[in-house]
Amino acid sequence: MSQAVRPRLVIMGRQGAGKGTQCELLAAHYGIDHLSTGDVLRAAVAEGSELGVKAKAFMDAGDLVPDELMTDIVASRVGGDKGAAGFLLDGFPRNVGQAETLVEITAPDGLHACVNLDVEESVVRERMIARGREDDTPEAIDRRLQLYAQETAPLFDFFDSKGLLVVCNGFGEVEEISTRLISSIDQVIGS
Ligand code: ADP
Repeated sequence: MSQAVRPRLVIMGRQGAGKGTQCELLAAHYGIDHLSTGDVLRAAVAEGSELGVKAKAFMDAGDLVPDELMTDIVASRVGGDKGAAGFLLDGFPRNVGQAETLVEITAPDGLHACVNLDVEESVVRERMIARGREDDTPEAIDRRLQLYAQETAPLFDFFDSKGLLVVCNGFGEVEEISTRLISSIDQVIGS
């Protein structure tokens, strides 16, 4: 394992695909910052900050928080010279507008890869119902999966056309999936 390259990664996958668990393992493995926009927003809601107050109703309905609230969060953590330390971005981008913003924010270095942790919809639906998070009501789950198909899935083409898309099967044991992800990422970063 090489410590030399600090990868700049986006991870995508349906809600409930296990991104949170895999991100922790990947961030520790590569020594990079894990930015989950969902976690940042939930913390803002818990604090009652201005961002949290604005975001809460969208989150409760399973809707996307407006793009302009997201840009500063992401730019402050992965923009400009922050990219040199590497990062793992989880939950952003969620639509083509956000993806274009990300390209601007991360220029000129750009990303190493966008990894799709691929798990079938029927499987993630069961997992979300089982985890019982506050915003996991049946209506909000449906809404989030629908938005994912409409708004987020087009990003696979967006990143593929830039030669950045890596697809990883997200079904199986945690360790097995993590090994798979690391080997796919190592191929991309050339270590
Ligand atoms: P999930 O993947 O289950 O939707 P997340 O933790 O990624 O969970 O996000 C929780 C909620 O936070 C989303 O339903 C959405 O309202 C909001 N959110 C997170 N990231 C973004 C983003 N990039 N753009 C807009 N809204 C976002």
